[in-house]
Amino acid sequence: MTISKVGVIGAGTMGNGIAQVSALAGIDVVLVDISDDAIARGIKTLSGSLDKLVKKEKLSAEAAAAAVARIKGTTAYADLAGVDLVIEAATENEGLKTKILKLIEDAVGADTIIATNTSSISITKLAATLAKPERFIGVHFFNPVPVLALVELIRGLQTSDASFAIAEAYAKAVGKTPIAVKNHPGFVVNRILCPMINEAIFVLGEGLASAEEIDAGLKLGAAHPIGPLALADLIGLDTLLAIMEVFYTGLNDPKYRPAPLLKEMVAAGYLGRKTGKGFYSYA
Ligand code: NAD
Repeated sequence: MTISKVGVIGAGTMGNGIAQVSALAGIDVVLVDISDDAIARGIKTLSGSLDKLVKKEKLSAEAAAAAVARIKGTTAYADLAGVDLVIEAATENEGLKTKILKLIEDAVGADTIIATNTSSISITKLAATLAKPERFIGVHFFNPVPVLALVELIRGLQTSDASFAIAEAYAKAVGKTPIAVKNHPGFVVNRILCPMINEAIFVLGEGLASAEEIDAGLKLGAAHPIGPLALADLIGLDTLLAIMEVFYTGLNDPKYRPAPLLKEMVAAGYLGRKTGKGFYSYA
């Protein structure tokens, strides 16, 4: 089965990126959000991203315009009729996602694969809410979607081999490198990355080095492109804390204890770039 039309639910940070890479790969996109404003914002963001590629001469103006023309924004789930694959990339909230999955299932055909881009919710648990759980899979893109090459493909206990194969073909078609991952809190990349960042915050809290020195240490000593504390500011300290709490309780292991300084920073409202202050200040 080749994927010629996808549905993307949510036109936010991840959804508009997923729409962009799909449309650039020649796939028609139905982009669903709850308001015309949200859709317009999403399409504006991806158009701006394509314009940058045109300015850098990585893409022709014609190809950029053709990609935008392949994306149909809508607030009606009924417009998903006829899509081969739907990727749910709405707000990270289990109750909301369960409701959205029901709306998707009511709108699409019996053979449509249904995927979620969730970062932390169990794929097996979400699949269990569907009438046909075998067609459900996690397709976890990384932020920013147009830039980062990885997609984690996460099987729930119910996911069929056929659903996996279609999701894998789609990930490759949009230019990504998929890795197969079992359903478990944090999957693979966040499971490794977030505790590393949390440890950097412990190190800062213990006064072993300054934020600048810790970041320089990992950049120069381990060839990381960005230091862990600058990365924490980029992710958002509230998001990082939420992920560590999921690991701590979900994996039931004290090694995932959120750093006390991380909790203090979040309590103070110092959430990183989005609030102008985190481990660094952003004017
Ligand atoms: P976001 O807040 O930027 O966007 C979420 C969008 O969902 C918003 O536009 C919102 O209006 C829309 N939405 C809410 N309810 C909806 C509904 N009922 N129907 C359709 N759209 C609805 O969030 P995001 O950062 O793009 O995250 C989306 C998903 O991707 C989450 O599951 C998140 O865990 C996951 N994710 C995020 C990142 C990241 O770095 N931001 C990385 C990987 C995965």
